Amino acid sequence: MRAKLVFPNREIVERYYVPLIYTACRTCYSELAPDDIFERAVDGRISPEKQRELIGRVIESGHGSTIEHVVFTFAITGVSRTLSHQLVRHRAGVAFDQQSQRYVSYKKGASTMLPQTIAEAEPDLRERYESQVEGALELYTELVDAGIPGEDARFIFPNATRTNLVMTANLRALIHMSGLRLCTMAQWEIRRLFQLIRHEVFAVSPFLGSFLAPKCVPLGYCDEAGNRDGHCPIRPHKDDVLAAWAEKAKGVRAGSPKPAAD
Ligand SMILES: Cc1cc2nc3c(=O)[nH]c(=O)nc-3n(C[C@H](O)[C@H](O)[C@H](O)COP(=O)(O)OP(=O)(O)OC[C@H]3O[C@@H](n4cnc5c(N)ncnc54)[C@H](O)[C@@H]3O)c2cc1C
Repeated sequence: MRAKLVFPNREIVERYYVPLIYTACRTCYSELAPDDIFERAVDGRISPEKQRELIGRVIESGHGSTIEHVVFTFAITGVSRTLSHQLVRHRAGVAFDQQSQRYVSYKKGASTMLPQTIAEAEPDLRERYESQVEGALELYTELVDAGIPGEDARFIFPNATRTNLVMTANLRALIHMSGLRLCTMAQWEIRRLFQLIRHEVFAVSPFLGSFLAPKCVPLGYCDEAGNRDGHCPIRPHKDDVLAAWAEKAKGVRAGSPKPAAD
């Protein structure tokens, strides 16, 4: 699997993206015209530190429209259809284009993926998996050779079939998607993809990359029902946080002076 950030590069992010987000944030509180703010941010009259400080505060406060003004485009290669089906469920602020199984003819057979757990399973199980996948691809070729259109022959493809996509997401969408997909509850393959995506954004901007994190990190607690047992230690589960808070509130009430009698 590969995920390569094809746009923007580091120079564009530093020179324009951070000033653009700063302009969106600052416009809300300034008498200056947005283009004046942008110019001052780009030419350095407003220091990058000051820009980052405001942007950090605004993102933390959840004023998300300010970070919809910048987009990141990734070339995603060699992921399974299992992954792509999950990925394209994201709807807001993100665009996808995916390799077509109608128009691409897989003359040498489609490339497929072998999950680690199956690779390490009993040899007999692994062999049966591989022969099922290979059998499906062989039948695909036979169907196409018999004149069946690719758009129908592809019905035999397994979820293991690899695919390529272009994904463009604005920063708000990217943070939201990363929040869900970097979570330890996410499926391993899509989690791996978002680790690569985070790495790519980090390479052009450690500042913006730092906002791509499991959703529990900015929240301060985990809201996943599947983690009520607290097996993931990144943040405490919200049930535990609320229980601790209720306990503290009880203590405060018990210790507070009684209201004076009339
Ligand atoms: C761990 C995990 C397990 C999952 N398991 C399943 C599963 O078993 N079955 C399944 O079908 N899916 C599953 N999903 C997919 C999940 O239900 C979502 O469809 C997917 O994560 C997209 O999330 P989203 O809707 O928040 O994001 P996006 O579509 O990217 O939307 C971003 C945000 O915009 C807002 N928004 C977008 N569209 C609308 C709208 N139409 N109306 C109102 N607000 C909107 C919402 O606030 C939303 O959170 C799973 C996802 C995860 C992370």
